[in-house]
Amino acid sequence: MKKDKYSDNNLYCSFCGRGAAEVGNLIAGDNVYICDVCVFNSVEMLRKNAPQQQAPQMPRKKSSRKLPRPSEIKKQLDEYVIGQDYAKRVLSVAVYNHYKRVQTDDTDGGQFADVEIEKSNILLIGPTGTGKTLLARTLARVLDVPFAIADATTITESGYVGDDVETVLVHLLQNCDYDVERAERGIIYIDEIDKISRRSDSQSITRDVSGEGVQQALLKILEGTVAGIPPRGGRKHPEQSLIYVNTKNILFICGGAFEGIEKTVARRMSNKSIGFMADASMTVEETAELIRHTEPQDLLRFGFIPELIGRLPVIAPLSPLSDDAMRDILINPKNALLKQYQKLFIMEGVELSFSESALAEIVDRAKKRKTGARGLRAIMEEIMLPIMFSLPDKRNIRKCAISTDASGEISPVYELAGGEQAALHKKAE
Ligand code: ADP
Repeated sequence: MKKDKYSDNNLYCSFCGRGAAEVGNLIAGDNVYICDVCVFNSVEMLRKNAPQQQAPQMPRKKSSRKLPRPSEIKKQLDEYVIGQDYAKRVLSVAVYNHYKRVQTDDTDGGQFADVEIEKSNILLIGPTGTGKTLLARTLARVLDVPFAIADATTITESGYVGDDVETVLVHLLQNCDYDVERAERGIIYIDEIDKISRRSDSQSITRDVSGEGVQQALLKILEGTVAGIPPRGGRKHPEQSLIYVNTKNILFICGGAFEGIEKTVARRMSNKSIGFMADASMTVEETAELIRHTEPQDLLRFGFIPELIGRLPVIAPLSPLSDDAMRDILINPKNALLKQYQKLFIMEGVELSFSESALAEIVDRAKKRKTGARGLRAIMEEIMLPIMFSLPDKRNIRKCAISTDASGEISPVYELAGGEQAALHKKAE
């Protein structure tokens, strides 16, 4: 029964004593009342005390989609993400097991009925711009589940200025038109997780200064809780009835660069006399190899609380991208930058091509930005902007070949309808 039916202000929740005006809903029984806050808290309490018992939920429709096998998942990831073979394998298996687990939630486990498969949230460790977000996003696409990205640095402990941890769930709900059932099987990518470590120095005065409070808040939704979400994404308001989302089956993928963690790994491993030493002269490959050996204890040293580490049992390392990988990223993925420009040019009736020397120059310039493959788009845009600005004004052009000239500058050469060549721009100015 809705609160507004009670104009009588004397009505209050028999459990917590809140008045009708202080809560969203007041449900009436036989001479007793219970408010929505107490219902929510009771569900939480039942869930905690009886882990095998699920919080009350709507009956679930089984997904008619067949769960792809790990090898199939990896194959599809290959279409969008270059390299990162090891991380793809780890992810494919973890995600397959996760959704198997979600499916067996509703079915009889036979002799293993009492065995509860724990949720395998995933931690991606690797430099910026190497495909962490892309992997998470592509996984959601492959599995056809809702997806949302959150930035750990904007999440705050409740009560601080910033986003409550529930905001993460709001985006997921928005991305599937508030279909709670679909959202409860979605994937959430939490970026910059390394920035909420206890030793992190990128704190602001408006939020918890240790990072630990945020870790605690995240822990709650990672391990599975019933969270109350305001329907239109605003702040919680006593007048609003909340949408309840159970995060038990939501897969959380956290990612971060974890700069310097290789030193921690090296220190631990050198203690075991394996002969790893971290020093300034380490090559990129050596650093990547060390990161590959990251273990929970290294994350603990990095400033994560053990409970949170425990909830991220799958660690997938990503390597820095080689020059060849960067070149491949430009031309090979299903929606590669080059393919996107080629499509735009075809709409103008022009065939676009890049010489190997131009590709190498783009990779070179992108590497200088030290933002991984993220730099490629910005460089490409710089090169293509003047060309695309003037192309629609020009008639008769059939082909545009982007190449480097004698001075190493990138410039286009056009071929006209009659096969005649013309360097309409000296440089891509
Ligand atoms: P981060 O590791 O910082 O999360 P992103 O996944 O957001 O990096 O990558 C930024 C952009 O760079 C992506 O949009 C994608 O176009 C490109 N990119 C990065 N790594 C790869 C990769 N391994 N394969 C294909 N594209 C990549």
